[in-house]
Amino acid sequence: MLTSIIGKSVIVTGGSKGIGRGIVSVFARHGANITIAARGEETMKQVAAEIEGNVRYVVCDVSDWQSVNAMINLTAETQGGIDVVCANAGTFPQTKIIDMEPDEWDEVMATNLRSSFLCVKAAIPHFKKAGKGRVVLTSSITGPITGFPGWSHYGASKAGQLGFLKTAAMELSRYNTTINAVMPGNIYTEGLQDLGQEYLDTMTTSIPLKRLGDVEDIGHAALFFASEEAAYITGQQIVVDGGQIIPESLEAIEEI
Ligand code: NAP
Repeated sequence: MLTSIIGKSVIVTGGSKGIGRGIVSVFARHGANITIAARGEETMKQVAAEIEGNVRYVVCDVSDWQSVNAMINLTAETQGGIDVVCANAGTFPQTKIIDMEPDEWDEVMATNLRSSFLCVKAAIPHFKKAGKGRVVLTSSITGPITGFPGWSHYGASKAGQLGFLKTAAMELSRYNTTINAVMPGNIYTEGLQDLGQEYLDTMTTSIPLKRLGDVEDIGHAALFFASEEAAYITGQQIVVDGGQIIPESLEAIEEI
């Protein structure tokens, strides 16, 4: 059992909904002290009240440097340092390239990719002071491995996170800090529900394990990367997708 997370100071961006909330539940159950960072205060307040454990929140826009830096410094002050940053917040509007305004591209990049850099940059002084740390990024299968019409910006941002990861792993090693990424498949979240029932049904039939992922499936993978037991793993990624990327064709899925 991964017990080494007890009492650790953890930040989960986007912890008010979906996968982030799943990460918060899993870490809280294992005894971590958690700060959720997102924009919507009411939702965070509700989540902090609903999840049993030591959970608080700070309003933060992860695409904004001042906001991220203030959130990380405040959390360090409140929780006595920073042990783990789960840079999870993200957005996935679906727009084909032909219809996409350049501003939408920039917004997706800022929320999904720039935010990873900002969280790591703001946390480095705290990792340096402690002589250790952990970063877990939420990337995706979309971009690094697969494609889907409407998600050129999203896919580029998610693949970009993995590009960032490699050099960040080298730079963070100096502070005895690891950085790894979880690559979820289709996980049943508020954000995914917004894509409609037809999308959810089609995706479910394309997954060998025949179900969408649960938010805690990602929480468990993030917990592993954050644990002492994963101390010698850095710059790596793990796909958590029920086998979705494996089938070579639709026929392969129908054969199951
Ligand atoms: P979700 O249900 O839409 O939740 C997104 C979370 O991020 C919310 O807490 C939201 O809170 C926060 N957020 C969004 N923009 C933000 C900003 N600018 N600053 C601070 N917080 C922000 O999404 P999800 O499905 O759980 O996705 C979470 C992560 O997993 C994303 O990085 C996504 O790319 C990745 N992912 C999801 C799936 C999936 O199937 N669901 C698959 C692969 C990867 P506020 O709106 O209140 O700020």
